[in-house]
Amino acid sequence: MVICRRIEKNDETYRGGTVISYGRQLIEKDDIEEVVKVLKSDFLTQGPKIEEFEKNIAGYCNCKYAVVFNSGTSALQGAYFSLELKKGCEFITSPNTFVATSNAGIDVGLNPIFVDIEKDTGNIDVSKIERNITRKTKLIVPIHYAGHPVDMEKIYQIAQKYKLYVIEDACHSLGAKYKGEKVGSCKYSDMAVLSFHPVKHITTGEGGAVLTNSKKYFEKLKMFRNHGITKENFINKSAGEWYYEMQFLGHNYRMTDIQAALGISQLKKLNRFVKKRREIVKAYEKAFKNNSYFDIPVEKGYAYSSYHLYSIWLKDKYKNRKKDIFSEMRKKGLGVQVHYIPVYLQPYYQTLGFKKGICPIAEDFYQREISIPIYPSMTTENISFVIEKLFKVFEEVNL
Ligand SMILES: *Cc1c(COP(=O)(O)O)cnc(C)c1O
Repeated sequence: MVICRRIEKNDETYRGGTVISYGRQLIEKDDIEEVVKVLKSDFLTQGPKIEEFEKNIAGYCNCKYAVVFNSGTSALQGAYFSLELKKGCEFITSPNTFVATSNAGIDVGLNPIFVDIEKDTGNIDVSKIERNITRKTKLIVPIHYAGHPVDMEKIYQIAQKYKLYVIEDACHSLGAKYKGEKVGSCKYSDMAVLSFHPVKHITTGEGGAVLTNSKKYFEKLKMFRNHGITKENFINKSAGEWYYEMQFLGHNYRMTDIQAALGISQLKKLNRFVKKRREIVKAYEKAFKNNSYFDIPVEKGYAYSSYHLYSIWLKDKYKNRKKDIFSEMRKKGLGVQVHYIPVYLQPYYQTLGFKKGICPIAEDFYQREISIPIYPSMTTENISFVIEKLFKVFEEVNL
């Protein structure tokens, strides 16, 4: 048994022993060497590794520009900010996501409208978007849940028809493809946002990026992550070589060169990591075919998923036993998680006036969903362990 990661110590369901987490990073010797090189160099931050990482990400995704940030969340905030929308404008997004997707929009004064999801992918139900568009709607923010792309051509058509912007929350889907095109190419969107948190496809510890084909957004994003400061295109006359201007209120959302070096090294492995994830999926599909306990993910004809998560959905008769099933899984060493509690059910969102029941499919999805382990360093033994323990839990659960 390969010991993977202990669940957080304060996690009450952790009872000791080994736990196979739902996701984790894979850092190898060469990754470490690249980081050490930067630690011995002149620049720990704002050095050459940032641009190199940005060029490589943009190149990988087949997009013109990338701007890296110190987290996926700050990258999202930068993307929303760059559109220069008036306060009070609305954006349409999915409730089946991490809170950061909508939080970052609220942070710049925009209001989220949650549209229900498709049962089979967990992605926003594109057919329900139009009826939620109002005169205040300016933007659609789809998220490619678990690494399975949203049908972007359809989103694009709606966006064209109503003159809306599109920001893809692509934090789950680096390495995925939509109709043969890399997610992040921004073929059907204004910007796409990535995260390099350790459970994502590649990591920089914390980190994120915005991809775009627009020079205007590119320049805005670079200033936004650095206090709104620029050293060119001045409003006032330059007073000398030291001169810089702060032209709007930005932040320090910069990534370090230490992180960028790790990112550059990790990006080289992305295809291998995604391939491994898809091999694990194959093994799961073989083991879980026609089982009577839960349903498993689909991959639509247009999609090549990068499987950030592997979701299982409890069938009707197990749906109301999720709490016990989940605890049993944890006790048996499966570091399972749930993705996601519909965002608008969070206490903060309740204070904003969102009511339970507005997205019934997302709520039902939440009742059934459990994310089981999937990450590139999983061994054959780990995979067999997961499958065996999982079935054991269901065999033992008293209905
Ligand atoms: C991880 C994640 C984010 C936030 O990224 P951080 O790097 O953790 O800030 C945003 N949206 C989704 C869908 C994510 O999974």
